Amino acid sequence: MALRTIRQMGDAVLTKKCREIKEVTPRIEELIDDMIETMYEGNGVGLAAPQVGVLKRVVTIDVGDGPLVLINPEIIESSGEQTGSEGCLSLPGKAGEVTRPNYVKVRAYDRRMQQIELEGTELLARAFCHEVEHLDGHMYVEKVNGELYDVENEEEEA
Ligand code: ZN
Repeated sequence: MALRTIRQMGDAVLTKKCREIKEVTPRIEELIDDMIETMYEGNGVGLAAPQVGVLKRVVTIDVGDGPLVLINPEIIESSGEQTGSEGCLSLPGKAGEVTRPNYVKVRAYDRRMQQIELEGTELLARAFCHEVEHLDGHMYVEKVNGELYDVENEEEEA
């Protein structure tokens, strides 16, 4: 495993649509392991492959219950609403208020390419939305209510 460099906002790679993964090759396995390590190193709750410069549809998330790996994730259901602070490892030291659904269901594939469905509320629902948007070249800053503000580095970022 190795740490990868997190691409910062302004890098064109963060504005591109990522390609689906057809097969978990050793190279993809390595990418996933590196993403998990890089996410933890940055104290992030989530990381999407384009944030480490790879245009493939895979994200890692950990909201405190262990790492989740989602390949080709798709939001298939959402409901409710939550408004709260959101940050991103690609824009360290900043956060903004974003309104998201309070419940989200995703369909994805795990590392063995088995289809899975996961449900999340609150922070996990927020993380699902945030990471899936990265795969389509979008960042939370497009959805911020008002202005971005400065935060301490210890705050959760994705
Ligand atoms: Zn992010």
